[in-house]
Amino acid sequence: MLDLAIIGGGPAGLTAGLYATRGGLDNVTMFEKGMPGGQITQSSEIENYPGVTGEITGMDLMIPWPEQCQKFGLKHAMVEVLRVEHKADGTFTIHKGDGTTEDSLAVMVCTGSTPKRVGFSGEDEFFGRGVSTCATCDGFFYKGKEVAVIGGGDTAIEEAFYLSKICKKVYLVHRRDTFRAAPNTVERLKNTENIELVLNSSPAEVYGDKMGVTGLKVTTPEGERDIPVPGVFTFVGNDINNQVLKNEDGSFICDVNDWGEIIVDLKMKTSTPGLYAGGDMRLDAPKQVVSAAGDGAVAGIQAIGYIDERLNG
Ligand code: FAD
Ligand code: NAP
Repeated sequence: MLDLAIIGGGPAGLTAGLYATRGGLDNVTMFEKGMPGGQITQSSEIENYPGVTGEITGMDLMIPWPEQCQKFGLKHAMVEVLRVEHKADGTFTIHKGDGTTEDSLAVMVCTGSTPKRVGFSGEDEFFGRGVSTCATCDGFFYKGKEVAVIGGGDTAIEEAFYLSKICKKVYLVHRRDTFRAAPNTVERLKNTENIELVLNSSPAEVYGDKMGVTGLKVTTPEGERDIPVPGVFTFVGNDINNQVLKNEDGSFICDVNDWGEIIVDLKMKTSTPGLYAGGDMRLDAPKQVVSAAGDGAVAGIQAIGYIDERLNG
């Protein structure tokens, strides 16, 4: 029986493992289907992790993390987890992709989330070279320049506001002329001088050169429009990687909100005792490395107390 099973080896999972093992748990395994490090390893540059100065890639940032954890005894299983089962006695069974199972007293789930793609030409080719799904991460690279934002939900509009404070101008491209976002947010949008609304319009193609994006072609009711921008931000929804928390009948083993985000409290506790969640998959996640790591630290510390109480208390 494991003390703690950690599902996902990104910043949240690795930090949970560090705090749990260094805090005295002997039997902690992190289940990660790929290489540890998480989605930040795809990033060519990270400028906002505290204390890290100079040019550094996401991969450079994450390389030392697993080694640091292993020093304190974190075990790493390179396997996909299919499902976490919550049993009647309050313990958990981890169902793995290789057909085997493992039991655990507590579980931390931090499998992240995946931004949806819009589907225009060049979107994948220029991802990370001008096409971005994160204004907090990449907005600063376009300081004083013009950028485009795709989407008409709360996220697209809030991120357009964020970018409008850094960038000279933001083109908000939305496929309809009404918005999903809250009415007061839409009202504010219409009053923001340096955001131009490009409505009833869909992105057709992003183009550029080997340095990155140089423009976006948009299909408008008046015909094709060329928007010459070096940055295109897409916010058309997120898939939360919550499949491991589903029972065989499709219900969840803990509470989730309407968008599938895991509901946690400030201690990263879910509605199920002994089950913690954090990082990009939790509600109100800032979707940053530093906040995911913070969630992991909180969950690791909480799991130590939970297991102690369960075994001795
Ligand atoms: P993730 O990093 O998504 O890690 C989840 C892990 O779980 C993955 O390794 C995945 O393989 C694993 N996993 C998923 N399902 C399973 C399963 N069933 N079984 C086993 N393993 C599983 N943040 C910043 O702070 N600054 C930036 O500049 C920045 N730039 C970014 C640039 C790019 C291109 C991207 C994609 C993201 C960027 N981010 C940035 C966001 C940052 O990467 C995330 O907020 C952070 O990685 C979230 O950490 P996490 O641990 O919650 O999840
Ligand atoms: P969302 O509400 O699903 O909005 C996605 C937007 O992207 C929609 O405007 C949609 O257009 C557009 N879109 C989707 N696929 C597209 C495609 N292929 N091409 C072009 N456009 C496409 O997603 P979200 O903004 O991430 O928000 C998710 C949930 O979180 C929402 O319920 C939202 O209210 C909530 N949220 C709340 C806050 C807040 O309250 N402060 C902040 C952020 C998010 P259509 O409208 O035409 O479908």
